[in-house]
Amino acid sequence: MRSDEKVSRVHIIGAGMAGLAAAVKLTREGLPVTLYEGAGHAGGRCRSFLDKALGAVIDNGNHLILSGNLSVQSYLSMIDARETFETAEAVFPFLDLKTGERWQVRPGAGKFPFWLLRKGRGIPGVKFPEYLAAFRINNAAPGKTVAEITGGKGLLYQRFWEPMTLAALNTPPGEASAILLKAVLGETFFKGAKFCRPLLAAKGLTQSFIDPALKFLKSGGVKIHFKTRLREVVRDNGKMTALKFSLRTAPLGTGDQVILALPPNITSTLVKEVEGPAEFHAIVNVHFRLPEKTAGEGSVPFLGLLGGTAHWLFIRGGIASVTVSAADRLAEKSAGEIAKLIWRDVARALGAGNAKIPAYRVIKEKRATFSQTPANLRKRAPQKGPLPNLYLAGDWTQTYIPATIESAVRSGFFAARAVIRDRDLKTGKKE
Ligand SMILES: Cc1cc2nc3c(=O)[nH]c(=O)nc-3n(C[C@H](O)[C@H](O)[C@H](O)COP(=O)(O)OP(=O)(O)OC[C@H]3O[C@@H](n4cnc5c(N)ncnc54)[C@H](O)[C@@H]3O)c2cc1C
Repeated sequence: MRSDEKVSRVHIIGAGMAGLAAAVKLTREGLPVTLYEGAGHAGGRCRSFLDKALGAVIDNGNHLILSGNLSVQSYLSMIDARETFETAEAVFPFLDLKTGERWQVRPGAGKFPFWLLRKGRGIPGVKFPEYLAAFRINNAAPGKTVAEITGGKGLLYQRFWEPMTLAALNTPPGEASAILLKAVLGETFFKGAKFCRPLLAAKGLTQSFIDPALKFLKSGGVKIHFKTRLREVVRDNGKMTALKFSLRTAPLGTGDQVILALPPNITSTLVKEVEGPAEFHAIVNVHFRLPEKTAGEGSVPFLGLLGGTAHWLFIRGGIASVTVSAADRLAEKSAGEIAKLIWRDVARALGAGNAKIPAYRVIKEKRATFSQTPANLRKRAPQKGPLPNLYLAGDWTQTYIPATIESAVRSGFFAARAVIRDRDLKTGKKE
């Protein structure tokens, strides 16, 4: 523990990826941390659980992490969880369900789009000058959408821009911010294969991202309170003085600091000065217990699907899991209707013909991420909050990248750094 910070505590509310990342960073720096979580478990929008009907551990949704997600990698090293991931080759296989065409996007060692000159690396039917035009995204103005910058039609749009935008921004390209897509491509695809190798949580999201973090925190002496929902922030003279939870109140010491690592709608209810984005998009996931000997199973860890309802198909341990992004309309249907629609695509992709629909689980995350439009980007809040002892974290805060695990972790690190910087300023210590 740092000798000058013995008494002042950092209270972190929310044990999703942002809150956990902040807690891990501060614990490593020797600061006393208390973590509060409203649910009975940690992980928030990134979690797994045992589904008894399927007889398997499933994720609330497939989460794809790439090797270019450097904050995530640093978090995993801190909690000693790097080994729980399988690293796949930088190969992104696609199937057009309408035409039956299959292809693979295989980034090379150099920068996009020059590796596309090599055979078998790009998208069939797309000519090199079209890829070059993709560089227009580098000069996109902040108010522009992906569709405005890329023309919103043509083969490259259908087979690259649209699926990439849906996957990375969970927002239709007609509304999605072009500079945000540029930011994520700039850290991954545009840098070459080394930065776009998929990292797959082999046993589940909780087993890779959450349990090792909780273990690390507990061994560092962090108190973790589950089922402890923050209801009100008590203030006096413009400073937070207490945290009112559902069943108790925690008074704040004079040097205590608070990180709210909560979704934007909850943050702005608790702290009225924070506006935050108020529009969201759903993600729907359907998990199927694959019938034995399903053709095609295991040939690829995941597959991009075009021309149907399903967007991405992941296969792990006999379970086929499908993701549909920006799925607001789909989420309004019943679970049975959704499963039927998606199974049609899965059976087609796996060559399972007219196989009967197997056991399934549909998970609708109605507020999976905020709607990442140019207007909503302006509402991202800085990690230094509007009150002197308040800090904010969460995938929606200002990280300059899309609302993803990488953004959540980065926001937690930024908030932790702001906490440390303010302490050091008070004590006259240089960072
Ligand atoms: C289905 C799905 C698929 C996704 N796919 C990907 C992907 O492929 N790649 C990727 O990088 N990202 C993906 N994401 C996004 C990623 O999961 C999120 O960006 C990230 O988990 C957000 O973390 P967070 O800590 O900011 O927020 P949250 O996970 O929402 O954490 C907030 C926490 O605060 C708690 N809480 C709320 N209110 C209170 C309160 N009043 N008091 C106390 N606690 C409270 C919540 O219970 C929660 O645990 C996906 C998300 C979903 C839903």
